[in-house]
Amino acid sequence: MASASLISRLPQVRGSYKENAPLAPLTWFRVGGAADVLYMPADADDLAVFLAGCPADVPLTVVGVGSNLLVRDGGIEGVVIRLGSGFTFIEREGDTRLRAGCAVPDIALAKAALDAGLTGLEFYRGIPGALGGALRMNAGAYGRETKDVLVEAEAVTRAGEKVTLSNADFGYSYRHSDVSPDLIFTSALFEVAKGDKAEIAARMDEITSSREGSQPIRSRTGGSTFKNPGGTNPDGPKAWKLIDAAGGRGLKRGGAQVSEQHCNFLINTGDATAADLEGLGEDVRARVKEASGIELEWEIKRIGRTAADAEGQAA
Ligand SMILES: Cc1cc2nc3c(=O)[nH]c(=O)nc-3n(C[C@H](O)[C@H](O)[C@H](O)COP(=O)(O)OP(=O)(O)OC[C@H]3O[C@@H](n4cnc5c(N)ncnc54)[C@H](O)[C@@H]3O)c2cc1C
Repeated sequence: MASASLISRLPQVRGSYKENAPLAPLTWFRVGGAADVLYMPADADDLAVFLAGCPADVPLTVVGVGSNLLVRDGGIEGVVIRLGSGFTFIEREGDTRLRAGCAVPDIALAKAALDAGLTGLEFYRGIPGALGGALRMNAGAYGRETKDVLVEAEAVTRAGEKVTLSNADFGYSYRHSDVSPDLIFTSALFEVAKGDKAEIAARMDEITSSREGSQPIRSRTGGSTFKNPGGTNPDGPKAWKLIDAAGGRGLKRGGAQVSEQHCNFLINTGDATAADLEGLGEDVRARVKEASGIELEWEIKRIGRTAADAEGQAA
C-alpha cells in the first residue's frame, strides 16, 4: 500500500503522521526499513481517536524504544505507533505507588523511585527499554520482573476503547505476556515500598557496574537474543552457555556478529542488515540444536517485511 494513499485514509489527530519514516534510528540495532506511516499520538485520548477511526484493514504495530526489536529490511506495512512526550509523566499515588506513562524509560522510573525514597524498582536501572515494552515483555533482571511490581495498566483497544488491566490479566510468564497483541499500553501503576535512599542508590550502582562488566551495552544490540531455556530458574540452562558450548561466540554473518563479551547478544558491527542479524541468529539456533538438542526461542521480536517481500509488494 502506498503511504500517500494510506495517510489520506487515516483519521484527523492531534499527534503527528510521517510517511515513509525510517525506523532504523528508532531501534538499538540501527537496522531495518521504513514504516509506511509513523504515528506519534499526542496523548491517550488522541490515540483512542486514532484507533477508533483507523480502517480495520490497516496493519498496526506499536514500538517502544526498540531495545528488543529487529525491524526487517523491507520495513513495516501500515502504521507504526510510537508513544512520545504525552506519555512521559511519573506521579506518586499515596505512600507506596507510582503511576507512569508508557514512554517513560525504565531507567527514569528507577531513578524517580530512588529520588522519592521508594524501593522495589531498582532492577529497572539495568533495562534500557520504556515501560510499554516492559509491560509487554515482562522485562526483568536480578531476580525481579515487571509482574512483581505491576498493579494495573491502562490500555487502548484496536477499536479505540480505553481499558484497565489488572496484573493477573497480563498472564505473565518469563519474558512473555498473554494479553492481546492488539492492546496498546498507555500508563501503568506500580507498587513499591518505603526504603532507605542510600541503600537503594547502592543497589542501583551495583546493577550499573555489573552491566558494564558483563554486557556490550554501548553496542548496537537488541539485548538477550534468546530466552534462557530454564526461564528464571537460576539453576536452569542458560542460552549463553549453550551458545558458547556450540562454538557460537564471535560467529559472524555479513556485518552481524555474536558478541565476544556476552554470547547471547548479537551486534551490528557497523554495516549489518536485519537479514544478516536474523540469519546469524538462525545459524546460532541451528548450532545449539545440533550440539545440545535444545531449540532456543527468540526473545528479540522480529517484525516487518524482508527486503524481498517489500519488492514483491511494490511490483
Ligand atoms: C543492552 C540491553 C540490555 C537489556 N537487558 C535486559 C534485561 O536485563 N532484562 C530484560 O527483560 N530485557 C532486557 N533488554 C531488552 C529490552 O530492553 C526489554 O525487553 C524492554 O522491555 C523493551 O522495551 P522497548 O521500549 O525497547 O520495547 P521495544 O523493543 O520497542 O518493543 C518490544 C515489544 O513491546 C511491544 N510494545 C512496546 N511498547 C508498547 C506499548 N506501549 N503497548 C503495547 N506493546 C508495546 C512492542 O510491540 C514489541 O512487541 C535489554 C536490551 C538491551 C539492548
